[in-house]
Amino acid sequence: MKPIDHTNRALVLFSGGQDSTTCLAWALSHFSHVETIGFHYGQRHAIELEMRPQILQKIRGISPQWQARLGEDHMIDLGVISQLSQTAMTEDIAIQMQANGLPNTFVPGRNLMFMLTAATLGYRRNLNVLVGGMCETDFSGYPDCRDDSMKALQVAINLGLDTRTRLETPLMWIDKAETWALADELGVLDLIRHETLTCYNGVQGDGCGHCPACKLRREGLEKYLEIKAEREKR
Ligand code: ZN
Repeated sequence: MKPIDHTNRALVLFSGGQDSTTCLAWALSHFSHVETIGFHYGQRHAIELEMRPQILQKIRGISPQWQARLGEDHMIDLGVISQLSQTAMTEDIAIQMQANGLPNTFVPGRNLMFMLTAATLGYRRNLNVLVGGMCETDFSGYPDCRDDSMKALQVAINLGLDTRTRLETPLMWIDKAETWALADELGVLDLIRHETLTCYNGVQGDGCGHCPACKLRREGLEKYLEIKAEREKR
């Protein structure tokens, strides 16, 4: 493993889901100072926000090093998102595919707003590495999760804020099984499996089992556990 980075300070976009918790563990294994940011925007499931402090508490318990590295958590109100768009993410309507091939959980530009908000907070807190769980291999294909979107945003942030801010997306090119593998490598597989929330129906841990997010998460975990069992047999 690389030596710990004492020069750069990280801010992790942390929602309490599988991906962002994996990103947080990743950041804690790379940077000596890590803070977290979360957003209120009228989510369907406020439980997601309630679980964040519990997960942070458990993450601190992983090791004395992580305890020392993990700094402040910042909750930011982005209620403006629910004012701007009507989607299954914020309204009580059924999740379905739309004519443009995106599920109606898609909030246009949400991830751009999250990253830009993080950059603004990072400017004030002197946090120059922004870490997000954006992923191109993700089933939803949200255009604001694309690598090019993030790279363009990094340039815009550095020009607009006159900073040297780096956007890190450790999950960009890996699938769900590999995300579980990364969590296992970082020593947080069980924590993520039992404490995080990915389910669109708001059920913690292994979830409701039938929504698209649960299906993707379960298939990824099963695939990873199979690969791991194969490897251990050898
Ligand atoms: Zn579910």
